Amino acid sequence: MVPHLVPRQLVQLFRWQVVCARGASVQPRTWALVSRIPSLLSPWGATGTSHLVCRSSSSTSPCAPEVVLTQERYPVTRLPFSVVSEEDLAAFERIIPGRVVTDPEVLEASNVDWLRTVRGGSKVLLRPRTSQEVAHILRYCHERNLAVNPQGGNTGMVGGSVPVFDEIILSTAQMNQVISFHSVSGTLVCQAGCVLEELSRYVEERGFVMPLDLGAKGSCHIGGNVATNAGGLRFLRYGSLHGTVLGLEVVLADGTILNCLTSLRKDNTGYDLKQLFIGSEGTLGVITAVSIQCQPKPTAVNVAFLGDGNLHLNVTSEAFSPSLLDALEPYVYEWTARQQGSVSAEHGLGFRKRGVLSYSKPPEALRLMQQLKALLDPQGILNPYKTLPAQA
Ligand SMILES: Cc1cc2nc3c(=O)[nH]c(=O)nc-3n(C[C@H](O)[C@H](O)[C@H](O)COP(=O)(O)OP(=O)(O)OC[C@H]3O[C@@H](n4cnc5c(N)ncnc54)[C@H](O)[C@@H]3O)c2cc1C
Repeated sequence: MVPHLVPRQLVQLFRWQVVCARGASVQPRTWALVSRIPSLLSPWGATGTSHLVCRSSSSTSPCAPEVVLTQERYPVTRLPFSVVSEEDLAAFERIIPGRVVTDPEVLEASNVDWLRTVRGGSKVLLRPRTSQEVAHILRYCHERNLAVNPQGGNTGMVGGSVPVFDEIILSTAQMNQVISFHSVSGTLVCQAGCVLEELSRYVEERGFVMPLDLGAKGSCHIGGNVATNAGGLRFLRYGSLHGTVLGLEVVLADGTILNCLTSLRKDNTGYDLKQLFIGSEGTLGVITAVSIQCQPKPTAVNVAFLGDGNLHLNVTSEAFSPSLLDALEPYVYEWTARQQGSVSAEHGLGFRKRGVLSYSKPPEALRLMQQLKALLDPQGILNPYKTLPAQA
């Protein structure tokens, strides 16, 4: 199971301990999942920390050394998007008065990912409350060729949730309303920014459980969960979000609101469009509302520690080490591909893993993904530099 080239003392298998979660309500937790494939290669060492992982909104925190800008650490070139101007800020202020954030201290937390491995340089964070506001913002950004980074709870593990350069951060934090709950069928319809733990509490008070549960539940949003196709602790019992999500409302890159928010368990009227957005990591549209099938609360069986068949490979080192990285990559990806596994069975591709997609997808599939992206987001303004490999 352990790739033989990897020095044993550097590999912590089946163990992911989150020690410090300041500024987030994520609880300290040890992961103990089993699987056939290494799916998480954490570069914690790259931050200059050891295995301690700290999240903080302040770059001066004693347990949070400055995170190097992504554009300085990685070979990535800014695409020719417009730069946010004073006129743009004024336009956003008209769309969402009082919810345009430009304060650098507030922005710092949204520019750095949870693992503190990547850091963007966005100058503006937008906090819409409604799908119409999201549509208005995206229509404007589409016309102005401004790049946008959708952000939920910012607990993602692959650098997809924060900008690479100066993309506008579009946060769903204020889209946190339950729209409806059917007390007989257990169908929940809610806005994308509802925090998973709050939804869990809401449905449990009504005799149901959410079909997913993860260590980040105190911070992650249901929209982010759908966008990453999150698995987690109830995966074996209730299956993937591809099955439990009944409908979605999505705002496309040009501001079109796509209402596929059905609550039907079966609907064979043509293509199942919502599936495209589950796991699309903010690259095809902004999920604004979710209809999800909750399950009756189990009475006797405790399903909490059932795993989902993933192995999480964490490698720690005192500091970022290119030679250590070279010993691991591409070895683990090649090994995984030979076992016909997924190079990211759990966390998606984001920024950090977009270059290894070809280990898990044939060229034809990759091409179709690129064509779909071009169709839905012709200017590529939604979460650029993420998920799909950079095109030559
Ligand atoms: C302690 C801990 C435990 C975890 N456990 C698990 C686990 O068991 N299983 C698992 O799968 N993951 C796990 N994760 C990873 C992470 O919590 C999940 O990926 C989660 O689903 C991300 O949700 P979020 O709201 O934080 O999204 P973010 O991190 O904000 O964003 C993740 C991606 O989704 C996109 N996105 C976010 N919201 C939207 C939206 N409304 N519309 C379109 N795109 C959007 C972003 O652009 C980004 O690409 C864990 C993380 C932590 C810190």
